[in-house]
Amino acid sequence: MKNFLIISLAFAVIFVSAFFIAEKFFPAETYIAKSFVTDFSENSFPAPGKENFEEGSDLAELLENGAVLNDSLLLINEEHPFPEDYSPELIDLGGVFVNSCAVNAYESISEDIKEKFDNSLYIMSAFRTHEEQREIIESGNEFAASVDSSEHLSGLALDVYVKYHAGMGFLDSEEGQFVNSFCHDYGFIIRYPYYGEEITGIPFEPWHLRYVGLPHSKIIAENNLTLEEYIESFIPGKILYYNEYFISRQKPEEIFIPKGFSDIIISSDNTGCYFITGKQ
Ligand SMILES: [Zn+2]
Repeated sequence: MKNFLIISLAFAVIFVSAFFIAEKFFPAETYIAKSFVTDFSENSFPAPGKENFEEGSDLAELLENGAVLNDSLLLINEEHPFPEDYSPELIDLGGVFVNSCAVNAYESISEDIKEKFDNSLYIMSAFRTHEEQREIIESGNEFAASVDSSEHLSGLALDVYVKYHAGMGFLDSEEGQFVNSFCHDYGFIIRYPYYGEEITGIPFEPWHLRYVGLPHSKIIAENNLTLEEYIESFIPGKILYYNEYFISRQKPEEIFIPKGFSDIIISSDNTGCYFITGKQ
């Protein structure tokens, strides 16, 4: 137990020092993973040879054949507001409502925290109505995004905490460090990362998890990207193969999937395209 505490303390010191050193010596642009963008178009982004693709799969046809439509890759920001008339499919997790596509991932990370730290992860806020978001803004909460650009309208964003450690203080807990280091293994990203303020316009929020699903969360974290950069990296109609997955951003009128993939997930990206994800 003592060793564990020493290791945790060392980890915290390294994390905090690295953060300050990085802040000091590298301006925000340095973090933009340009190599990721290059890899996309040159190597891991083959042009779709139509002979290897399912014929004429339109959205309705794919859904009929078992594909799942969810909200996981909706980009929600000032430029891409959440559609006012859209009602997400929500599940009640003890009084907080969470987008149905994020529930399994949340249960899995909170079970692991229980097991590793013998502590509970709580959700302070997940889904909010437009009215609730408006009230938060009017109450002067400096972190609240404008009414239509809040991810909380979708139920995909979860503000999490553990007892005695909420907000920025979440990082002072082992659980908060674990969540910030490993949430991408569960399908979540830190939506407003310390390196992303110039892109997202929102300062670091170590408590605000955003569900995007696997393997998107891993790619975003491995390449220090923001969701904005990730989505814009995909040229519509091209494909990225990542481990056993394929990912493709497609125009609604040209939806296709490669042959031999299953577990197809389709999500609008709120920019006029769909993300199609499948597994081999
Ligand atoms: Zn939040």
